[in-house]
Amino acid sequence: MINIILFGPPGSGKGTQAAILIEKYGLEHISTGDLFRYNLKNDTELGKEARTFMDKGMLVPDDVTIKMLEARVLESKDPAGFIFDGFPRTIAQADALMDLMKRQSSEINALVKLEVSRDEIISRLLERGKTSGRTDDQNEQTISKRIDVYLEETAPVFGYYDRLEKSYSVDGLGTIEEIAHRLHAVIDHLCELQNEES
Ligand code: AMP
Repeated sequence: MINIILFGPPGSGKGTQAAILIEKYGLEHISTGDLFRYNLKNDTELGKEARTFMDKGMLVPDDVTIKMLEARVLESKDPAGFIFDGFPRTIAQADALMDLMKRQSSEINALVKLEVSRDEIISRLLERGKTSGRTDDQNEQTISKRIDVYLEETAPVFGYYDRLEKSYSVDGLGTIEEIAHRLHAVIDHLCELQNEES
């Protein structure tokens, strides 16, 4: 079992790359943003609660997010591993994930960050907003807020895994295929490490 956190600012390509990785490695993709959007669309209580934060580009409170994530992980039957996308976004979420993995007799193998500049993110998100139907991608102010939240609250999560010697960075600029190749190199390396250990 191999569990990977795909990390990076909004618009860094996590969702696109996760879709490629699950095909290649047979992993399960868990995106907290997608889970919230599913709840918004279906007008659930959770969706209503999340909407006010999402519309402002703010994080949904940790207790709500962690509960949703745990339920989603526990729903999976015998996965080859997970790709977490958009989670953890705070240190409290990183602690909760560590705890959850331990309870499953498993662990996070690596956090892999996609590096993309602020200017590139803004232009990618505005472009995505033209077709994604996501209101948080259409307003430059909301985009800017999401980047600030990433830098203030989420970026420290990289240091958390770095101290555990589980952090990797990959250049997030280039074609989808080029970036996918860089990610494959990291994950193949992680698989080799795991094979050596077992
Ligand atoms: P994303 O699709 O990952 O960009 O997430 C869209 C929005 O959902 C974010 O701007 C947050 O409002 C909310 N969200 C997604 N994941 C999390 C998380 N792990 N913690 C808190 N809020 C989240």
